Amino acid sequence: MTEKEVSIDLPSDENGMFPRQCPNCDGKFAIHSDTYQDEHYLNLRCPYCGWIEEFDQFLTDEQADYSHSVAEGELRRMAEKELSDALEDAFGGISSNSSINLETDSSEIDFGEPETPSPHLSIETKRITCPDCGFNFLVKQDAEEEQVSCPVCR
Ligand SMILES: [Zn+2]
Ligand SMILES: [Zn+2]
Repeated sequence: MTEKEVSIDLPSDENGMFPRQCPNCDGKFAIHSDTYQDEHYLNLRCPYCGWIEEFDQFLTDEQADYSHSVAEGELRRMAEKELSDALEDAFGGISSNSSINLETDSSEIDFGEPETPSPHLSIETKRITCPDCGFNFLVKQDAEEEQVSCPVCR
């Protein structure tokens, strides 16, 4: 059995805002992903508590659930394909018209087809433009604008 790797693309919202969650205070926010990539920033700063960490460390609960669900579906498809390939290999030579009902088998184990949860923020947000660098980001609706700091400027 070989290791399976599933890479999952996490989407930005329709405005290009990419959700992030602070690993320190769990505060959720979103950043403009194109700007972030264009500027080659390495780290993000939590707008609420000032925690600085690598971009990847700011995975949101929603994104974790989403990736988990997508990865599971992906792995299930791979496993099913592998199983059907293996069965085909095993039985293919014996009888050309053998029909193996995989649907029945897998439904007994009840994999189901889970709903993929939304990868977007589950909180109300407002948009903030940093007066110093012009970076656009979203913070929770009830955050005091004076209290939040830009995720990218020093
Ligand atoms: Zn924080
Ligand atoms: Zn800034």
